[in-house]
Amino acid sequence: MARRKRGAVRSPRRMRRDLWVGFKPYGAGETKPNHYAEIVRTVWENRRNLRYAWRILRKGVCDGCALGVAGFHDWTISGVHLCTTRLNLLQVNTMGAADPARLADVESLRGRDGRALRDLGRLAHPMVRRRGDAGFRRVTWDEALDLVAGRIRDAGPDRFGLYLTARGLTNETYYVAQKVVRFLGSPNIDNAARVCHAPSTNTLKSAIGVGATTISYTDLIDTDLVVLFGSTVANAQPVVMKYLYLARKRGARVAVVNPLREPGLERYWVPSNVESALFGTRMADEFFSVHTGGDIAFLNGVLKVLVADGGVDREFVDAHTAGFDELAAELERERFEDLERASGAFRDDMERFARMYAAAPTAVLVWSMGITQHEHGSDNVRAIVNLALARGNVGREGAGLMPVRGHSGVQGGAEMGAYATALPGGVVVDSANAGALAQTWGFDVPSRPGLTAAEMMEAAGRGDLDVLYSSGGNFLDVLPDPDRTRAALERVPLRVHQDIVVSSQMLVDPGETVVLLPAATRYEQRDGGTETTTERRIAFSPEIAGHHVGEARSEWEIFVDLARHVDPERAHLAAFATGQEVRDEIARVVPLYSGIENLRDTGDAVQWGGTRLCDGWKFPTADGKAHFIAVAPTERELPEGAFLLSTRRGKQFNTMVHAERDPLTGAARDALFMAPEDAGTNNLLEGDRVVVRSDLGELHAQIHISDLRPGNVQVFFPEGNVLLRTGRRDEQSGVPDYNTIVTVERV
Ligand code: SF4
Repeated sequence: MARRKRGAVRSPRRMRRDLWVGFKPYGAGETKPNHYAEIVRTVWENRRNLRYAWRILRKGVCDGCALGVAGFHDWTISGVHLCTTRLNLLQVNTMGAADPARLADVESLRGRDGRALRDLGRLAHPMVRRRGDAGFRRVTWDEALDLVAGRIRDAGPDRFGLYLTARGLTNETYYVAQKVVRFLGSPNIDNAARVCHAPSTNTLKSAIGVGATTISYTDLIDTDLVVLFGSTVANAQPVVMKYLYLARKRGARVAVVNPLREPGLERYWVPSNVESALFGTRMADEFFSVHTGGDIAFLNGVLKVLVADGGVDREFVDAHTAGFDELAAELERERFEDLERASGAFRDDMERFARMYAAAPTAVLVWSMGITQHEHGSDNVRAIVNLALARGNVGREGAGLMPVRGHSGVQGGAEMGAYATALPGGVVVDSANAGALAQTWGFDVPSRPGLTAAEMMEAAGRGDLDVLYSSGGNFLDVLPDPDRTRAALERVPLRVHQDIVVSSQMLVDPGETVVLLPAATRYEQRDGGTETTTERRIAFSPEIAGHHVGEARSEWEIFVDLARHVDPERAHLAAFATGQEVRDEIARVVPLYSGIENLRDTGDAVQWGGTRLCDGWKFPTADGKAHFIAVAPTERELPEGAFLLSTRRGKQFNTMVHAERDPLTGAARDALFMAPEDAGTNNLLEGDRVVVRSDLGELHAQIHISDLRPGNVQVFFPEGNVLLRTGRRDEQSGVPDYNTIVTVERV
């Protein structure tokens, strides 16, 4: 176990005037977040429970993104680690109980947005609504679990599925949930990691033998070049901006590959650093504008240049990799004019990138949803891995691959086996592995992969699911095509929604019955809990006494109790009495997580895999080599006058929208981001009202002119989901495609 010590990385004292944005203190008057005002607002929102809020901040591991911090300090930098995402989430952890009478009339709650529903307060009691009832009524825990258990028994294992959010849940909850689902004979367990980084996990595992970020954050700061692909870290993982600032001060270059020139990646005011807060920091040196989904074509163009100019590290490639010749042959076949058309970038851009990349002794490649949430998400990730391998940028100091996680549960959820395609430890689901696990657990373990999140909803729509159990999350907001999702939910005879607050999916009419189960937050979880950060650090968050809401219970305890209600005679096989027992078992079943059993207090952490994965170019693949995989560029045919639309995030935490206007771009929630060239061609001006149409639906929006690659437009997620057809996804990973072709017409 590693007790937390303050991070070692300090900001160099020397000022870097060349990085300053200007002389307006804290960017006064600029379109940008005001972190200080947010702190004041947080104090106000949590005024009824300030002492508890303070204890969460001081003692807890942040339940926001997966960057990871315990209290106010992380394991990387010497200063304070805090951001507005964490502050915005604080209220759901400190609010009191919702009045159960408010749920007695569902009709009165329809039409409220997620924020208004959250403001009702915490779910405090088990509740039931039967078909035909106006709303929910309170029941006891035993009544609720008996009802659920009876239906699970009747349904049989294949008609029962469980999905968990990636927000705020602990490794203990994921581990117990998947064990109980498998104990009940079902393989249908999945979590929100499926809809974000499944392509990253799959591809990294097959290419380099590990399905995780290979570096520590210190590498990000100590590298020579950071490249951000399809990732708005200023929004989703704000403290990464502080790491980038430190990297810039140490001389690193930063490049961005994206359809939109994100203002937050161009310049940023790091509030906790005097120099940056006063003068701002220019964050990116280079920007490469590509089409939505044009990344493979762009990267193949870059690789073509690298090969032609001798920029490939042949020594590394020959000694430590396989598949380069196939990649080179694929690149040979591809013509620059085709790559330009498919990528939206010019050959000059590819050459400029290749020069910059070849000149950097080390590089860290970072990517996020702009890469993964595509029909070809896995191939997009492969193209990035190919780029890294071409210069040995993995497994050494300052060099590596970083699929940056936006939710605290994304890394641990899959590693705990709460995943349709993996057993605990990320182990592939097959009869040998299921058999070995059965020996350990003492009951049969399904040896077939289960339904993924999107497949569960498709099964529900066909009438093939009798029980759908969701812990957190909101299918209505997360998945494409909300109307179809609503219809699918209405077909499920029994839905169970276990959560800390009310969400709109709970209000969807029951097939037969809907059960609500009140969950404790991670800070209320008995015996504390752990999360796994993007840099693979398993960090302990203790139980923080002083706040208990109604009858809410720790989620792992609910799953243990569910097993007891379904099968009391065998339930001891899936029983845990304490959180410590869960951690002890995780350490035995998932050797990677060895050390988790010793974590006891705030700041206790253990990093699986050590500082760097594949260190010294030792790749845990069957042949000990890293694998290039040739990928062909993808291109969507655009009809005349149509646009390629992608979804983006604003001031929000996944589907939880925190503000009607995004402080980083100044755009309202109904904005349609459009290039000035396209607006000019279509005689549209800033603020003009338009209707956006896809082959599925339409969305009313207002034009927001932005520095975007012409031919592409963007709208906010989840509002844009009404335009996205369900069923289109990356077949290799199951991640839905959050992009589509649209037309835009003035209203
Ligand atoms: S950057 Fe992420 S981990 Fe850090 S405080 Fe913000 S939300 Fe929490």
